[in-house]
Amino acid sequence: MQPLKIYNTLTRQKDLFEPLSPPFVGLYVCGPTVYNNVHLGNVRTFLAFDTLYRYLTHIGYKVRYVRNITDVGHLVGDGDEGESKIDRMAKLEKVEPMEIVQRYTNDFHDVMLQFNAIPPNIEPTATGHLIEQIEAAQTLIGKGLAYESNGSVYFNIEAYNQQGGNYGKLSGRILDDLLNETRNLDGQAEKRNPLDFALWKKAAPEHIMQWNSPWGRGFPGWHLECTCMSTKYLGTQFDIHGGGMDLKFPHHECEIAQGTGINGASPARYWMHANMLTVNGQKMSKSLGNSFLPHELFAGSHPLLEQPYSPMTTRFFMLQSQYRSTLDFSNDALRAAQKGYKRLINGLRAANSMQYIPSEENTGGAVLSVSTPGVVADEKKKADIEKSVQGIYDALNDDLNTAVAIANLFNLLKYVNMIYMNQLPPAALGADSFGKLKEVFVGVIENVLGLREEPTQGMAVVEGMLAQYRQFKAAQQYDKVDEVRRCFKDQGLVIRDMKHRIDWAYEE
Ligand code: AMP
Ligand code: ZN
Repeated sequence: MQPLKIYNTLTRQKDLFEPLSPPFVGLYVCGPTVYNNVHLGNVRTFLAFDTLYRYLTHIGYKVRYVRNITDVGHLVGDGDEGESKIDRMAKLEKVEPMEIVQRYTNDFHDVMLQFNAIPPNIEPTATGHLIEQIEAAQTLIGKGLAYESNGSVYFNIEAYNQQGGNYGKLSGRILDDLLNETRNLDGQAEKRNPLDFALWKKAAPEHIMQWNSPWGRGFPGWHLECTCMSTKYLGTQFDIHGGGMDLKFPHHECEIAQGTGINGASPARYWMHANMLTVNGQKMSKSLGNSFLPHELFAGSHPLLEQPYSPMTTRFFMLQSQYRSTLDFSNDALRAAQKGYKRLINGLRAANSMQYIPSEENTGGAVLSVSTPGVVADEKKKADIEKSVQGIYDALNDDLNTAVAIANLFNLLKYVNMIYMNQLPPAALGADSFGKLKEVFVGVIENVLGLREEPTQGMAVVEGMLAQYRQFKAAQQYDKVDEVRRCFKDQGLVIRDMKHRIDWAYEE
């Protein structure tokens, strides 16, 4: 099997993943700024890192997964001037900023659970780490890497570079180009160099969220929280730092400068960036007005949606492309994903009920996998299963290529379905191949991809309907049989009336 490689934005290549202290892995992911509902673009990034967390755990690492909540410091326009995103919403709605924070933190948690994302091990908030941020700014001032100006504190990029730093190394931006880009921005007068960025901002009286500091009343700069919280919970150097592609600059570039300035070493060894979810090729974003909210998708209530799509269909849709490629959001793609997800989940149901039966035994038809006495081993199928299993792990180890892993999973599905349909006796695969088929198929779907069944009704109700079907059929009450079939269809389900077994499945 190939070893795990991760595309590292810092080195611009796929690097062999070697944690600092195996089996432990430190993973930090920039969380949401909780001033409105997360849209599906945000969700894509968070699901990419949920899948990474799941996979690292699946292959045996003990991961400490930290994902923060940005509840202060992020300004409208992502720069150093202007209103705070959270303050602005609080004023608009005439509520406390912390009500905004709580409301959208709750929404975020709710949404992530619906998408079956595993909560992080630590979810720190920026407002919970103000002391650490003030101390960090003081340390940087002490090292000559920051300066106070009119009640604000700025990171000094020139001094940083003179001390051996390399501002721009993550994003590959050249300082001169950056200078040209920033020249016209407002509020640069306080800065020695227009590229310098805020570690602490003096608060105007109307700014609601503000605290005391050695420099007067103010609030922390957006980038500092992630440096402080990642250092506090993962150490001065840790393994992986993740976020969406649009955070590469300036957010992550600034984090590297701050971390290196404070601790003398670049914070994370692997920087991973998820690519954007787009709509007609344009980045999905609230400000562009092309965003879709999860609840609009689940209810099908967005005017551009032809039908509702469930959380698992959406998760599957996102996993069908590798996290570093852009992914375009469309009805066609979602419809195809719905079909694919249902096929896979029917396979999951089948695989979970599969049992190995040696060829001599007779199952009497009660068990799904009926054996044929004296079955001959099918070496070709066994080899193909082995190849697909390898294909899945090789793909996941190749920078978490879920797209190729899923293609291989569908090849395994073929064999699961053959066994389910009684076309392939498990004994023809032998106990080892059969065991591997079941274990990898179920394990990868449930544990790595994080997909699960989404019953429209409680399972007990569905099983009850199936029992009725059996009774009506035995009593040859065919009009009632048809009625039960229609009930199933109304739920998006079908009855599979096979020679060896009567079962139900999701309509594909
Ligand atoms: P924010 O709350 O704006 O800081 O965004 C939260 C996360 O969502 C960040 O990692 C962003 O990079 C990411 N993000 C924002 N828009 C998109 C998008 N259209 N596609 C994928 N990720 C996105
Ligand atoms: Zn961050």
